[in-house]
Amino acid sequence: MTTNGTTSSSGWSPSSWRTKPIKQPVAYEDQAAVDRSTGKLRRLPPIVTPKEIWKLRRALAEVAQGKAFLLQGGDCAELFDYCNDQAIDTKVKLLLQMSLVLIWGGNKPVVRLARMAGQYAKPRSSPMETVDGKQMPSFRGDILNGYPSDQRDIDPDRLVQAYFHSAATLNYLRAQLASGIADLNNPLEWDLGHVGDPELQQKYARIVESISESLRFMRTVGADTAGQLETVDLFTSHEGLLLEYEEALTRKLKHPSNRNVAPRSKPAPKVSPLTGGALVDPSIVEDAEVTGYYNTSTHFLWVGDRTRQPDHAHIEYFRGIENPIGIKVGPTTSTADLAQLLDIVNPRKEIGKVTLITRYGEGKVDELLPQHIEAVRRTGHTVVWQCDPMHGNTRSTTSGIKTRSFASIFSELASALRIHKDCGSFLGGVHLELTGDAVTECTGGSEGLQDEDLGARYETFCDPRLNEKQALELAFLVAGSQRG
Ligand code: PEP
Ligand code: MN
Repeated sequence: MTTNGTTSSSGWSPSSWRTKPIKQPVAYEDQAAVDRSTGKLRRLPPIVTPKEIWKLRRALAEVAQGKAFLLQGGDCAELFDYCNDQAIDTKVKLLLQMSLVLIWGGNKPVVRLARMAGQYAKPRSSPMETVDGKQMPSFRGDILNGYPSDQRDIDPDRLVQAYFHSAATLNYLRAQLASGIADLNNPLEWDLGHVGDPELQQKYARIVESISESLRFMRTVGADTAGQLETVDLFTSHEGLLLEYEEALTRKLKHPSNRNVAPRSKPAPKVSPLTGGALVDPSIVEDAEVTGYYNTSTHFLWVGDRTRQPDHAHIEYFRGIENPIGIKVGPTTSTADLAQLLDIVNPRKEIGKVTLITRYGEGKVDELLPQHIEAVRRTGHTVVWQCDPMHGNTRSTTSGIKTRSFASIFSELASALRIHKDCGSFLGGVHLELTGDAVTECTGGSEGLQDEDLGARYETFCDPRLNEKQALELAFLVAGSQRG
């Protein structure tokens, strides 16, 4: 920050994070191999463009003002192996099904953000873990090492592999969307694959029928808006954890010509209140207005609960990019830190630039969320409030399996909805770990999965995910609350 506090970018560069202390650091042994990988990444083309990034920023400004709802979901740890058509299709289908339920519930557009095409780096509580009685380095995500016990060494070549898996995933996603996977004229194509529960099937079928009926009516009266129902926007996101990778894909690019600068909570001063003089050299302002630094690896990045210290490397990196960003907020986030973080990453108070992803746990949300809502209100920032009911509710079974109870997840989400309402705020979105497959990783839900049932299809390589049915049940909860 400059002393007059007008620009966030002073002293910032894509590599300035290297001057700060860092959490979750990576001790690469072969620096020459890292340089080769990052050198290669620097020459590769962007995976996403500024125009797309701004489209999402404008959509999130709508969410922050209550005019749209944000649905974000995907795996905890995305594996390179998930880069195949079946795995991508089932996840996209689930997000589309959930968004249909949410549109029906809230009567407003839904912004879809997949934890996908780059969610390859994981923060870990310990550098070592025990697997089958053997001590080994923890699995830190496919971008660093592999899950099999003989692949736990950090491998710099994985940085480049991450780029290609990310690009191939997004390429297939774009192709499927362009080919009509999300065509609203055919919502029955989005059938509820694994959901055998007749009640859920029926609820969903009613929504599909009511949408189909509205569409038939629109066509009858000639109001079918050409092309607009045939596809949807779907954006990508991942945790911005491995800064070596993020830096290499950060590019100084021209802002898109149609960038409607997102509205600001308060106008930023153009002249110094003390001297009346211009705050910065006008030529710098001009340059700053033509170009900006974009993270071109994904549309949206979030900073995790373990790496969001205001004076550390990750926040230094995050403050300089144009992308919309998320910040995880948990039981250890002080109200003072929260206010400081917002001022650092969004000094111009642009509406919807920042999404606060709250993840307290069902037992703590009542005490902490109201304080955080009030603290943010005092700062004058307008954020997207998103509830992550997953990460504060992780527990171990007696046999040591990491799981989450559906009842706890449901309870934190229901509490967040109620608390926002009580505080004169509103919940703008949900952030979930989910998969379209019929896995058994979280207990409960209408199937009534017990701890003993988890072995049947426990497939996650990190945190337990909701299966298709559990995820839809949550979508119905939010939809129900929105319909009053
Ligand atoms: C995650 O989203 O997978 C994660 C690690 O979350 P948190 O930073 O909130 O613990
Ligand atoms: Mn997780």
